[in-house]
Amino acid sequence: MNMIRSAKGKINGVKEKIRQKKWYKHLSTINEHKLEVGKNCFRCGLYKQGILHDLSKYSWTEFSVGAKYYQGTRSPNEAEREDKGYTSSWLHHKGRNKHHLEYWVDYDLVRKNGNLVGMKMPDNYIVEMFCDRVAASKIYHRDDYTDRTPLDYYLHGKSKFLLHPYSRKKLEMLLYMLAEKGEEETFAYAKRYMKAYRKYKKRHHI
Ligand SMILES: [Zn+2]
Repeated sequence: MNMIRSAKGKINGVKEKIRQKKWYKHLSTINEHKLEVGKNCFRCGLYKQGILHDLSKYSWTEFSVGAKYYQGTRSPNEAEREDKGYTSSWLHHKGRNKHHLEYWVDYDLVRKNGNLVGMKMPDNYIVEMFCDRVAASKIYHRDDYTDRTPLDYYLHGKSKFLLHPYSRKKLEMLLYMLAEKGEEETFAYAKRYMKAYRKYKKRHHI
């Protein structure tokens, strides 16, 4: 009996040690975030994107950096950026995940002056970006999260300067709708919007 008890105690000790590891904490954070975004995407009818969202975070290039720079209070990308002067993990991430507006940054086609600008994003990725922002705001703000938090985060951020006017208009519409009318109505709207978008793409063979 005593032997079983001490074996159980040892196992619990090992489990606790693992829970304290930075890689484990990072893994829990990305799992929690992915699950939240997935739920939001499913509410919008984006099933494939809900499953595939942020999968590259589990690749060695991104995961090892996330685990090394894990801090709990802010993104490990920020810590890596300060340490190395660039973020290998973020550069890897944004080049593979189309729901990030930075994926769509390319040379200006209109002015042809060599400047980098945001290109028009497909609507399904704008909606996934919205789902991502809602989930991230909930995780960062926990108890003081309200339907206005994602909008406030967007308004205080710099990303709006890089967004293509069309993507900006659509994202802002969703964020304002969430702030004013709540989740139920906004996700139901996003689902209808995505259905219409799919029909449009089919009709135009895009
Ligand atoms: Zn992402």
